[in-house]
Formats: sequence, structure tokens, C-alpha cells
Amino acid sequence: MVGRRDFLLALPALGVAAAAYGSASAGSGAAAPALAAAECAVFTPARQRETSPDEALRMLVEGNERFVAGRTIRCDLRAQVRETAAGQAPFAAIVGCIDSRVPPELVFDQRIGDVFCARIAGNFVNDDILGSLEFATRLSGARLVVVLGHSECGAVKGAIDGAKLGYLTAMLRNFAPAIKAARANGEANSKNKGYVQAVADANAKLAAAQITSRSEVLRSMVAKKELRVVSAMHDVTTGRVSFVG
Ligand SMILES: [Zn+2]
Repeated sequence: MVGRRDFLLALPALGVAAAAYGSASAGSGAAAPALAAAECAVFTPARQRETSPDEALRMLVEGNERFVAGRTIRCDLRAQVRETAAGQAPFAAIVGCIDSRVPPELVFDQRIGDVFCARIAGNFVNDDILGSLEFATRLSGARLVVVLGHSECGAVKGAIDGAKLGYLTAMLRNFAPAIKAARANGEANSKNKGYVQAVADANAKLAAAQITSRSEVLRSMVAKKELRVVSAMHDVTTGRVSFVG
């Protein structure tokens, strides 16, 4: 067990202000206090600049591992509100579905000021989402974009079955390319779980590809290795996120 004094001594090496940690509580269970110290320190522009796109991805992978293992880190969120009041410097931007079972901050074990989240039914990208991502990365410094799809997606099922309702009818047309790209091994309807997943997989990959094919701003950041864009799939039965690349 590492004492409070020991990890306070380690803080300078982690680039963490002791004052910031003074208001943070240690993690639950086996979470090491030093890890909690690093995780509870809010992102500053300096810390954001020092984070490479690969490190940003690693942080999300490790966060999801903690979430799945029941080792999420508890921080003082009110302290984080105070510490981010003057500005934000999140390390990643996530495009996720509105599905209530897939809140990005929770499944990646992140907190106040860590990640930008754009949520739209079926996690597709359009001009507004691309503009939001340009803001999150080029102007605000995030180093990684993740398109986060998930299993059992109602938007994907609705698109497959051709659901019609108000504005939803037009919105579901965004999934036509994914439906075209996915192979149905059996019936091409929402009762076929394998097909629903195949469309969700294709949709997340196509959305990630569109981010760089449509946005000159984001394409140029990726070319300069200032940014990475990946797709990922969240399994609602396990909470586990698999990164596709
Ligand atoms: Zn969904």
C-alpha cells in the first residue's frame, strides 16, 4: 500500500499539481493511489500537448479495462469542475450513439474535462459533427478521435427495417452506405443479430473514414501525425470496447 506522502512525492514526475490532488479521493478497490493521482488531475494545455495520439488511445483502452474490471477511479468531480472552470484541454473526442447504455465518459472511465463527446443516434458523421470535431481537435487540441459504435443499436435496427417516423425517416438514410457494405448471412432484417452487428461495424468504420475523407482540416492533422482517428465497438452485454484501428 502506498501512503499519501509517497504518492505526493511522486506528483512532480507525473506533472500533477499537488493542490489538484489535495481535493481528489483515492480510487476504489485495488486502484493504486499514484494512478488515481494521475487520473484525477484535470487536463491542462501543457499536459494535453505532451500527450501523443497513441498515448491518448492507450488512456481510453486502459480506462475501459478499469471499467470492465470494476476498478473505476473515483475522483472529486466538484473539485474537477473548479479546476476546469478557467478552460478545458481534453485529450480525445468521441463520436458516440445517444444510447443510454453507452455513455463514453463512463465506459472509458473518464471525468470532467477529459473528453469531448458528440452523441447522435447511430454515431454517424455529418457536417455539424465534422465541424464539432474540427473545433475539438484543431482549435481545442484533442489528439484522438474515436467513432464509438455499439452492439444492439436501435438506430441501426431502424435503418435496416426502414422505419418511418417524423425526422427519423430522413436521419436513417445516413446508414444506407453501411447497409450496402454489410453482408447479411441470413435474413437482412433486425431480427438477424449478426447482420445488425455487421451493419454497426461497417457504419463505425465508414464514419471514421469519412472524418478524414471529408474534412481537410482533420485530414491534414492526421497527415502531420498530430491526430489519430479510430473506430471502436462497445458490447452492451459486457461493457467492453474493441478498437478497430
Ligand atoms: Zn445506438
